[in-house]
Amino acid sequence: MIPEPPKSPIPVLPNTMMNPVDWVVGWARANSLWPLVFGTSCCAIEMMATASSDNDWARFGLEVARASPRQADLIILAGTIVEKMGSRLITLYEQMPGPKYVIAMGACTISGGPFYYDSYSVIKGADRLIPVDVYVPGCPPRPEALLYGVMKLQELIRKGAWRNSLTHKPIYREPISDLMTKCAADWEEKEKKKQEEMKEAQERFKVENPDYKGYVIKRVVGPKFEEVAPTPRPERGLPQVELFNILLEKFPALGVYSVPEVTREKIAELGNQYVLDVVVSREDYLPLIRFLQSDERLRMNYLIELTAVDWKDHFDVIVHLLSIDKGHKIFVRCSLPHDEHPEIESLSDLYAGANWHERETYDFFGIQFKGHPDLRRMFLEDDFPGHPLRKDFVDPSRVVVRPY
Ligand code: SF4
Repeated sequence: MIPEPPKSPIPVLPNTMMNPVDWVVGWARANSLWPLVFGTSCCAIEMMATASSDNDWARFGLEVARASPRQADLIILAGTIVEKMGSRLITLYEQMPGPKYVIAMGACTISGGPFYYDSYSVIKGADRLIPVDVYVPGCPPRPEALLYGVMKLQELIRKGAWRNSLTHKPIYREPISDLMTKCAADWEEKEKKKQEEMKEAQERFKVENPDYKGYVIKRVVGPKFEEVAPTPRPERGLPQVELFNILLEKFPALGVYSVPEVTREKIAELGNQYVLDVVVSREDYLPLIRFLQSDERLRMNYLIELTAVDWKDHFDVIVHLLSIDKGHKIFVRCSLPHDEHPEIESLSDLYAGANWHERETYDFFGIQFKGHPDLRRMFLEDDFPGHPLRKDFVDPSRVVVRPY
């Protein structure tokens, strides 16, 4: 049953036929929102919880979440929005048919959240891109908060219907109010009143309780727990010392990271939980990786990771390999000079996965991989100025300047 329309704050003119229609349209629109989900990180989990059975947003007319902007009139932004997503978000918003609404859920979408102070990639507020109707604060907001935000949006939609362009013209004598400014002014007024009342109450309390000394906070001492020993890594594959022996026979100049003047005995002392971390020269980098992959005893056939570290005076390119058949692992490091674009051979011919890892390392550190079939940025826009994980990268949007 359709409930009684609330009393309109806008005077209904005589002979105006459209107002009830507007009211019904507004009521229908507010109660049949179709959300396009834009869940990018942790807040999206709360948004999913809001849709699921315990909270069940279908009770509010938000029926099926849409996967296409063309079938949605509400976009719920739930999670961090990064620069590269910015243009995609605008496209999605533009593709939604009007009238359309936006809920910004969580600190990240509202202001950049925990990434406000120190991030080269996070947009500091969705309303820098598209207009936001309702902000739901929290990190993350609970489902109840999102449902409250939905109810607030429904109120706005119902009110908005009274200002619908189909309404009889004289109604436009009332200016369309700027809700945000009005809300901020109301809030300021309330805060002022609250502060005055608080001051009065404090004065009164002092007069009525002259002996009051304040409240002493007693901290609860936290319980002490016994140290839990780490679960030992299952021993699989060749022992590290044997791995080292095999490599040393073929590459006598091989070093081991953080073990000066390395010997077989020193590696044996490190025990079976240690993962060999070898340091190789630029000339031996590719031959060593090729050997690790092709030697029958080693068969390091899986590239777990390829990345880099900026030590300010040099870079380390680090490759983490695993033998899936045998189970042993190894780290391989190669030092590169701290130039603008240091270069090293690509492993993309040996491991298909190296293609993406090397693109990522190029994107963040500017390291060139010789022989890579398609070396271009992966996460950042093509025109991003610089490589953000380098220590010498200067980010003008950073709120807190780093000490290096
Ligand atoms: S606001 Fe908090 S919970 Fe939500 S996406 Fe950001 S960090 Fe995650």
